Amino acid sequence: MQCPCGSGNSFTQCCDLLINKNKSAHSPEQLMRSRYSAYATNHAEYIYKTYAKNSQASQSINDIKEWAEQTTWLKLVIHSSSAFDTKHRESSLPTVNFSAFYQHENKYYQLTEKSQFCFEQQQWRYLDGEVAESDELIAPKRNEHCFCGSKNKFKRCCGA
Ligand SMILES: [Zn+2]
Ligand SMILES: [Zn+2]
Repeated sequence: MQCPCGSGNSFTQCCDLLINKNKSAHSPEQLMRSRYSAYATNHAEYIYKTYAKNSQASQSINDIKEWAEQTTWLKLVIHSSSAFDTKHRESSLPTVNFSAFYQHENKYYQLTEKSQFCFEQQQWRYLDGEVAESDELIAPKRNEHCFCGSKNKFKRCCGA
């Protein structure tokens, strides 16, 4: 199976190492990708434990699980990742801009978010996110370009 995060690597050589094999993310972007893949493969516990400690209080594993189960994750597009200082990770709050495309109750959606990360207990964690856009998408025809910007036909991309 190809990794849901879109890296082009197999899941076992990519986000699976972080989600199931206790490997630590070496950057906020890698953590972001692994959290997306955890949603796509329904690993709610991983999503929960990669929240910053202060953010965990307002989360529940069951809610995350329910949301992951009801949603088909189609595509992750990373737009940009801010630089961070590897020597002073604790004092930095790097950001990642991304769009996630998903299907929920037969409708398509795009979520565009700027996520903020922090370095806590020797791990990158997800602090919170600012949603820039959350829109329902009109599905293109099967032979038209996909809405995710891949330049592929919809039927060979998110509509497959
Ligand atoms: Zn991956
Ligand atoms: Zn697509």
